[in-house]
Amino acid sequence: MSEMSIETDELGPHKVLHVFRSRPALRAIVVIDNVACGPALGGIRMAPDVSLGECRRLARAMTLKNAAAGLAHGGGKSVIFADPTMPVAEKEAIVRAFAGAIAALEEYVAGPDMGTDERAMAWIADEIGRVAGLPRELGGIPLDEIGATGLGCAVAAEVAAEMQGLSLKGARVAIQGFGAVGRHAARQLVRRGAIVVAASDSRGTLLDADGIDIEGLMQLKKEGGSVLDCGRGRKAGPDAIVGADCDIWIPAARPDVINEANVGDLKARIVIQGANIPATAGAEAQMHVRGILNVPDFVANAGGVIAAATEYHGGTEEAALDIIRTRIRQNVSEVLERARRDKREPRAVAVDMASERVRRAMALRRWA
Ligand code: NAD
Repeated sequence: MSEMSIETDELGPHKVLHVFRSRPALRAIVVIDNVACGPALGGIRMAPDVSLGECRRLARAMTLKNAAAGLAHGGGKSVIFADPTMPVAEKEAIVRAFAGAIAALEEYVAGPDMGTDERAMAWIADEIGRVAGLPRELGGIPLDEIGATGLGCAVAAEVAAEMQGLSLKGARVAIQGFGAVGRHAARQLVRRGAIVVAASDSRGTLLDADGIDIEGLMQLKKEGGSVLDCGRGRKAGPDAIVGADCDIWIPAARPDVINEANVGDLKARIVIQGANIPATAGAEAQMHVRGILNVPDFVANAGGVIAAATEYHGGTEEAALDIIRTRIRQNVSEVLERARRDKREPRAVAVDMASERVRRAMALRRWA
């Protein structure tokens, strides 16, 4: 695929916009993948090394995620080619210019993603009004503060545990990445009686069979520390998390961390994908063969987008948390039951189910 061309299929993309501005210097791409279920909802990623291909893949992932979560939204994504750590005044000028560029794209509702946050969404609201993921002061539901995605992951783990005949009381959990997703997933699972026996961040892994003090670790991370600074437990390198002795393994950091080379080290019976694309296709196939129940990313980590959509439609924080609990429970149950019945990988089943929802919506629309 060349730099400016894009592959299409029966679902999309619906529209691709390339944005170039000289003052302030702005280069960006918006991919609106599909709008059959409603205006495309998807975040703005700011990074120096983004690409059209990445934007297209992420936009499709949003189409599937939003459809799987039963939201009245299609999928889209945008990327801004820039370093998100630039001085804030420059960042504000770029984000405001980007907002101007998407003002007329009424089929796209932007939200935060890597390199953009609630403050950036406030600038967009200021320019064009239409945005999700606002700060609380502007009526937003702060996703990372309330732990929307982590809650969804814990609910997914609850359902998967029931299917594996495992009680969450005393279940041993390992979490890779103790950021917005990982720390809230940990907190929610501990509330349900689980014991977090391993947690990692970019610096290393903390292992403690007696259970890590999650509130203490959250405080330590808030103060800028690492899991390695924890007083108790055994310390190891960041990769040690993969082979941690546990029942439930939750990737909540980087893509492709489970691959053909290390999938054999996994000891868990359940994997809940908090991160986006944390496992390669080959690794997922091997998990399936070994009987590891794997809840795919766009089903397990939809909590954030459910909260964003709830905010966009004027709902409250409590409503968002309620919808996350019910939708994710229902979706994970349906995906895992069908996967078991048809002896298929959960991801293949989930992609089929979500695409089918999009196709049904397309059949109801005039242009489809
Ligand atoms: P974050 O930046 O808050 O946290 C990431 C954590 O991963 C940090 O603790 C970091 O130290 C750790 N990390 C980085 N490299 C690591 C490595 N090699 N080994 C172990 N840990 C490592 O990010 P986040 O918002 O929690 O997002 C995590 C993942 O979840 C990403 O893939 C993101 O796309 C996905 N996701 C996030 C949300 C959300 O609501 N925040 C929603 C859906 C999906």
